[in-house]
Amino acid sequence: MSDAPATERVNLLGLERPALEAFVRELGSEPFRARQLWSWMYKRIEGRFEAMTDLAKVFRARLAERAEIRVPEVVTMQASADGTRKWLLRADAKQAFEMVFIPEPDRGTLCISSQVGCALDCAFCSTAQQGFNRNLTTAEIVGQVWLANRELGTSGKPGERAVTNVVLMGMGEPLANFRNVVPALRIFTDDLGFDLSRRRVTLSTSGLVPQIYKLAQEVNVALAVSLHAPDDELRNELVPINRVHPIRELLEACWHYLDEQNGRSITFEYVMLDGVNDTLAHARALVKLLKGHPAKLNLIPFNPFPGTKYRRSSPEAIQRFRDELIGRGVIATVRRTRGDDIDAACGQLAGRVINRTTVRLGNKNLGVTVQP
Ligand code: SAH
Repeated sequence: MSDAPATERVNLLGLERPALEAFVRELGSEPFRARQLWSWMYKRIEGRFEAMTDLAKVFRARLAERAEIRVPEVVTMQASADGTRKWLLRADAKQAFEMVFIPEPDRGTLCISSQVGCALDCAFCSTAQQGFNRNLTTAEIVGQVWLANRELGTSGKPGERAVTNVVLMGMGEPLANFRNVVPALRIFTDDLGFDLSRRRVTLSTSGLVPQIYKLAQEVNVALAVSLHAPDDELRNELVPINRVHPIRELLEACWHYLDEQNGRSITFEYVMLDGVNDTLAHARALVKLLKGHPAKLNLIPFNPFPGTKYRRSSPEAIQRFRDELIGRGVIATVRRTRGDDIDAACGQLAGRVINRTTVRLGNKNLGVTVQP
């Protein structure tokens, strides 16, 4: 990487294959060189052009002048007693976002962010308390996976990466940053990119219905939906975007998504809030909504954060809830809480965000800005 100011150079982590081919052509080289470049970038996690020895010297020099492979800068890294790791990554001089790696015996899941903060104002989410500042760029989204793979190395088995699964469940609403998220998803699943199978990349959304329809046309990844309540009255309160796109419309979009993509099922996330949404009546109402559909419920014990009015449901209440669902024919699992000693659990990612939104959902105004 040369000494030219970073701002003048193109970050190659932000380019899908056709865009990279066009860029390579612009530099006077053959488009197929883009494949070689990608192979260094995504198969070998190599970020130095001078190390890419099968590319001509002149081409490497031109790349160093005009391009860079730049990942978000690490502010801090914390390791949990259970092996979970959390990185705080720089968005600019004052702001930062988070990324979490969750190792399991049979896989390694990286939970990445899509925005600095979030504008959706879900009542039980710590990111929502921070407000929203900006969308992450494609390079910053792809850069998270690249960085984690470089820092974590391989799993020990030959050719195997530490990161086998990517979930967009960190900070932000990925479908509100559609324009930058979709190219990143393509780079994750492209066989010349990270080559992750479509079932190993999961986008989680609070329920931006029009974007679910659009996503179905654009890229094939698994979908998770933050449901959290079985009826509109309660969901309006917990997930305010529900006032714009109520449950019935949301579910229609979900079944459409599966049809379009030949998907197997949708995961519905359901945070367990003591005395709020965790009674057997709620479980039965969920059965009514989901029974007979290709749906799985993932029950998430609420992770508290400073200032929240909610409490986690008791283990017994969660167990009863799960048994009720299963007994009535709906698949349900309980998400194991990981990394809570370092505030890395679901809904605890706060980063450092300077709120720039004047209106947020939940403050009556429903005008959330969503990119085309
Ligand atoms: N905005 C997207 C991506 C965030 S994913 C979405 O809403 O789906 C993070 C998951 O954790 C979501 O299902 C979210 O609702 C859930 N979550 C948020 N706050 C939580 C908390 N405090 N405890 C447990 N889960 C939480």
